[in-house]
Amino acid sequence: MILFAEIPVNNKSAYINVYLRERKGLKRVTMSFSTKERHLVLSVPSKTPQKFLHTFIQTHHDWIEQQVQRHGTESKKFTAGTIVLFKGKNYTLVHEVSNKVLVCCEADTLFVRAAQTRVDTHVRRWLMKHVTELCNEFSLKFAKVLGVSINKISVKAMHTRWGSCSSDGNLNYNWRLIMAPEEILIYVCAHEVSHLVYMNHSKEFWGTVKRLHPNFETARAWLKKNGANLYVFG
Ligand SMILES: [Zn+2]
Repeated sequence: MILFAEIPVNNKSAYINVYLRERKGLKRVTMSFSTKERHLVLSVPSKTPQKFLHTFIQTHHDWIEQQVQRHGTESKKFTAGTIVLFKGKNYTLVHEVSNKVLVCCEADTLFVRAAQTRVDTHVRRWLMKHVTELCNEFSLKFAKVLGVSINKISVKAMHTRWGSCSSDGNLNYNWRLIMAPEEILIYVCAHEVSHLVYMNHSKEFWGTVKRLHPNFETARAWLKKNGANLYVFG
């Protein structure tokens, strides 16, 4: 099964994962809620257009909300033993109970000193700090190169996109970019900042992205291939 989408539920206070299961002989799309895993499974005939599936999910939103209220969503809390993906590398979370908070990585271990109930919060904060710093650094650097100004940079949970740019100069980035190799995050920054010059995906736009990040095609292909995996963690 492949992860297809992460849908906001309960007034965007939570997300639910939708997995895709392609079945050859199937005649129509069906959706079920796994009460054990607390996620959705879409069983679809092969080659069903993605657009159709997004519409299908939308029309069943009330039903999805009902299921979430009844059963909750998949919890992927960071805790001792969890594999944490950070800048393209796997780290095993090692927790030590302490009142003094510390999060740091060494070799292939992510050490977390914190109270038992606060591990998840502190790991998330630590990841957010890193992703925010990097997105700020590269967005500002690229904006300077292109001579454009940014209104506001935000990093948040985005369910299907890696970044976005609004016409009033606001840049949004998906916090999960911190799980990808740094090259990938840099490409997304180059992509969104280039939208401050071209609000489309024209030839000129891609030319600008290439100027900022010459290796962008490799990064783009990486995201297409591996992007969904970044949703498996945390
Ligand atoms: Zn774009």
